[in-house]
Amino acid sequence: MELPPFEAGWVWLAGAGPGDPGLLTLHALHGLEYADVVVYDALVGEGVLKHANSSAQLEYAGKRGGKPSPRQPDISRRLVQLAHEGKRVLRLKGGDPFVFGRGGEEALALVEAEVPFRIIPGISAGIGGLAYAGIPVTHREINSVVTFITGHDASGDVPNSIDWAAIAAGSPVLVIYMAMKHLGKLSACLIDAERGADEPVAIVSRASTPHQKVLESTLGDCAAAAVAAGIEPPALVVIGEVVRLRGGLDWLGALAGRALVADPLGVKSRVKAG
Ligand code: SAH
Repeated sequence: MELPPFEAGWVWLAGAGPGDPGLLTLHALHGLEYADVVVYDALVGEGVLKHANSSAQLEYAGKRGGKPSPRQPDISRRLVQLAHEGKRVLRLKGGDPFVFGRGGEEALALVEAEVPFRIIPGISAGIGGLAYAGIPVTHREINSVVTFITGHDASGDVPNSIDWAAIAAGSPVLVIYMAMKHLGKLSACLIDAERGADEPVAIVSRASTPHQKVLESTLGDCAAAAVAAGIEPPALVVIGEVVRLRGGLDWLGALAGRALVADPLGVKSRVKAG
């Protein structure tokens, strides 16, 4: 297969997917095979980095051990510097670089510095990670709209710009990234906006890794349930009837012996009864 050559002095800004190295794209894998330097984030798993060529320099650009993360301008400056040194720079981010990943900011810094770059999309955790929990983000009988939300903004608070009433009324399925810190507040905002406290919720942590955990709960109870179950970030919260499909689609659970039901929404049994 013809893949584009990784040229010296270029930055490839790539998504690594949610964790399972099997979810890397061929372009990302090719980048790992040819990079001189891999600048990676906290959410990029070890299993992914193992695919880097043995002479690649691995540079960590995330939070570690409670130390503050490098400032975004510092990371962008570093990418420019490495490219100017003539390196093949693979900037590797968890999930997709353009989904709550600041990929746009880094790419614009490259534009400003006239560094040539390629964008390699990845499987975002809010789609592929949920698929590993057996939850499709759309299902024809349930929703024709899905909304991706971030649970906090640059200041660390729930973003002010979110129109909860509009989202609650218009989007049957909500997928919240970075939700754990403010889960109580987020669910209260939705209940205030007239979403049902008994609506199904799933919290999926470390999706697609060997440490994946899934907690099923309800909108009213999920914040307390997450604390009680000791669920830690990175985790996604998905709200809506699609969560019920997990009863039939938890294919990973099935590998571990869980029985799947063919009609998790109870549609066929309702039709029969009616
Ligand atoms: N660019 C990434 C998102 C980065 S924001 C993407 O497209 O997936 C960081 C948030 O992503 C985390 O707080 C968490 O909500 C979510 N996330 C990333 N990887 C995850 C994983 N393996 N399991 C669960 N959530 C994950």
